[in-house]
Amino acid sequence: MASKPFASSADLGVKTETLEVLADGVYALTAEGDPNVGAIEAEDFIIAFEARATPKAANDWLEMLRKHTNKPVKYLVLSHYHAVRVLGASAFGAESIIAHDNTKVLIDERGKQDWASEFGRMPRLFREPEGIPGLTQVDITFNNKIEIPLGGDRGSLILEYCGRGHTAGDIVAWLPKHKILFAGDLVEAAAALYTGDAFHFDWAKETLDKVKSYRAETLVGGRGAVARGIENVDAAIEQTRGFLNGMIEKVTEVHKRGGTVKEAFEETRDLLAPKFGMWPIFEHCLPFDVQRLWDECDGIDWPRIWTDERDQEVWNKLQD
Ligand SMILES: [Zn+2]
Repeated sequence: MASKPFASSADLGVKTETLEVLADGVYALTAEGDPNVGAIEAEDFIIAFEARATPKAANDWLEMLRKHTNKPVKYLVLSHYHAVRVLGASAFGAESIIAHDNTKVLIDERGKQDWASEFGRMPRLFREPEGIPGLTQVDITFNNKIEIPLGGDRGSLILEYCGRGHTAGDIVAWLPKHKILFAGDLVEAAAALYTGDAFHFDWAKETLDKVKSYRAETLVGGRGAVARGIENVDAAIEQTRGFLNGMIEKVTEVHKRGGTVKEAFEETRDLLAPKFGMWPIFEHCLPFDVQRLWDECDGIDWPRIWTDERDQEVWNKLQD
């Protein structure tokens, strides 16, 4: 049997991208399971949430946004350090780029390797990759919370850390006035979770509890459709938790009985596939996800760095 194509390297089908106006001056771009992005309009400027994988991909989004507003982008907020979220930053011409303290640490520590790794895994997202000027430099970092007043009667945008989750430095963007939450990759709506750099145990408990505590009425997750209404928002959060808990249950069980990571992978896939196997990037993510959780069970707190070589090695070991 021919071996499975590596990660999403064979996924070349173009997705439909849809700009949705969530409230006056609040925009989301969703893309059928590809990474979502957003923008929030203040009186005199725009705050962009997520940068996409390349300046070209970012420009495609900005072109759509420019049909609604021509204000300059003052702040670009990065929810976390992953290449497909940050390497398009230069296209925004932002005055400042904002992220969590740990996101800056992670870009400095492993941004280069992550760039190569994500390019290999998801080449389709890297439109005109030669346009990337280099790693993204963050200007403003914070540890807990930042509030940005939007002016007029627009209220403010709150950027907040909810604890370790999808990475060590995920932040959410919360609009209290509209009860809209941009959750980044901490929540996915009917898309598989990538947890290769995650803290599964924290994420599944306190971090998602904190995300849920906003009582958002609209939630834009990292991938998938916008969740509208508290019931659907809670469902997206609990789906995410269900994916994590399923992984935790199986991987810890196999780890405790002295099994192998390959067994953990196969049993986790069998458990999750009936519920989540049809979602985008499930097959792509699961080997990296299980390997990271296995490392956590081994007591490795700070995630090991993914490189091209390590990607292939883990893929070949698990996904055949
Ligand atoms: Zn991510």
